[in-house]
Amino acid sequence: SVRDPLTGLFNRRHMTECLRKAINNSQNTGVPLSLIAVDVDHFKKFNDNHGHDAGDMILRAVGTALEKACDGDQVACRMGGEEFTLILPGVKNDDVLRKAEHLRKAVEAISLRYGEKTLPTVTISLGAAHYPQHGTLPQELMRGADEALYVVKAKGRNQVQMANTVTPSPRDPSAQASEEDTSVAEINTAPSAQMPDPLSEALAETLP
Ligand code: GH3
Ligand code: MG
Ligand code: MG
Repeated sequence: SVRDPLTGLFNRRHMTECLRKAINNSQNTGVPLSLIAVDVDHFKKFNDNHGHDAGDMILRAVGTALEKACDGDQVACRMGGEEFTLILPGVKNDDVLRKAEHLRKAVEAISLRYGEKTLPTVTISLGAAHYPQHGTLPQELMRGADEALYVVKAKGRNQVQMANTVTPSPRDPSAQASEEDTSVAEINTAPSAQMPDPLSEALAETLP
């Protein structure tokens, strides 16, 4: 199946397939493409305090809120656990943080009754990446958004953060090559030796 049974959203496998297609489409048509990685904050604690069933209810509600924010061929996916990804064709670099902030507020506004009580608010942290500024391959865009998400976690959660712009390697053939290409795999892994690590850089930027 392409669906996650708990939330009804697309699963991780289908998400990577959608992202591959979205990248191809943007390459061919020039339509903008953004990606947002989402992680529920302190969700282990939420489960510990309110139980796994209440946690499941929250995940379903978060999934619904994220899906509601998608128009046209935009898709929300559950990557697993309390992690979600949105693939956003048509969302420009300048608009993706606004979109992420809209998602953050939508989740913060979720109010659920569970038995006798109303469950406390949950928050999410969000990392955004844009094609091709933050990567031209699915795993590059996902890594860019994830690294931005880790920056938010380090800053204190419940915020949005843009990925670091990657400087393309002069021999980067990613415009033509597919992910399976060994030459690309080498180029993807090799530059970390010479180039500053984007996550450390991002973290350094957040220091006073
Ligand atoms: P952080 O803010 O750093 O993301 O903290 P966290 O507690 O959210 O992160 P951590 O990765 O430590 O814990 C994730 C929790 O998500 C642990 C697990 O109990 C919970 N979880 C994962 N999948 C499910 C699920 O399907 N249902 C429920 N109820 N909980 C889940
Ligand atoms: Mg997580
Ligand atoms: Mg979490």
